[in-house]
Amino acid sequence: MSETALRLTGKTRVLAVFGCPVEHSLSPAMHNAAIRALGLDLVYVPFRVEPERLPDAVAGVRAMGFLGVNLTIPLKERAVSLVDGLTEAAARVESVNTLWWKEGLLMGDSTDGPGFISSLEEAGGLPETALVLGAGGSGRAICFALAQRGVRIILANRTPERARRLAAELGEAGVRVIPMDADALKEACREADLVVNCTSVGMSPNIGVSPLPEEAIRGEQTVYDLVYNPPETRLLADARAAGARAINGVRMLVHQGAYSFRLWTGIQPPLDVMEAAVMEGLLQGA
Ligand code: NAP
Repeated sequence: MSETALRLTGKTRVLAVFGCPVEHSLSPAMHNAAIRALGLDLVYVPFRVEPERLPDAVAGVRAMGFLGVNLTIPLKERAVSLVDGLTEAAARVESVNTLWWKEGLLMGDSTDGPGFISSLEEAGGLPETALVLGAGGSGRAICFALAQRGVRIILANRTPERARRLAAELGEAGVRVIPMDADALKEACREADLVVNCTSVGMSPNIGVSPLPEEAIRGEQTVYDLVYNPPETRLLADARAAGARAINGVRMLVHQGAYSFRLWTGIQPPLDVMEAAVMEGLLQGA
């Protein structure tokens, strides 16, 4: 039997990712690699769930006793009202990417923010001031996570009202909203020791474009692109050319997955095994 063959038994517990689309998700490869490495009797399966069928799918999770579920675009916000309880992070961000069981209750958590922070700490620590590009789902998670740790935030979003709304929600946390134009971004870069791209600009298939003018980047900065497909975006190439430290979204993907895995199993999964599975998936054109 090959190393990768499934050994499903009557005792095998099911983990899943629900998305729409879900075909390109790297989570099954990443989690099944960790399951195999740890020799656990679990399997992680992708399911395409249309947004309007999410209540049925969550009822199925309860009826069939899934051990846990990840949710991806566009289901994260809809899941908030379908669980028995939310963690503080999920309630703040109003988004759920992980379903897990706690004392018989189906709980919702949002592990993107903690996953981002862990990957940043691993890469050298938290900044004093961060320029966050994007106020969508991941921008919200990143802003709440940074603000909670006392990081000053400069926020730019293509649709300015969305950035202003998020800043208002963050309240006293010290957020400044700027326009997403070249001059304002250049000026903000002079202050920020971290730049985080939380927009989908540069993501496959629209590669070769960057949300930031290349001349804005300073060599002393860290530039973090949440985009992981491709792993080397135009923004990160510009950052390296400017002598800045460049981090792609793969490590965040791995850390947010590890948070979910620990909620489901109580076990710390092997991060490097998960990262290798993600990189292999990307190379195969996920
Ligand atoms: P989202 O909720 O759909 O938000 C998209 C964001 O991108 C919004 O701020 C949007 O601005 C902005 N945007 C889209 N097209 C743009 C353009 N042409 N010019 C300027 N801004 C543009 O998506 P999301 O869930 O936050 O995901 C954003 C990116 O992060 C994706 O590439 C995703 O793969 C990545 N991500 C990575 C991880 C990880 O673990 N590494 C986790 C989550 C997300 P408007 O508000 O103006 O529309």
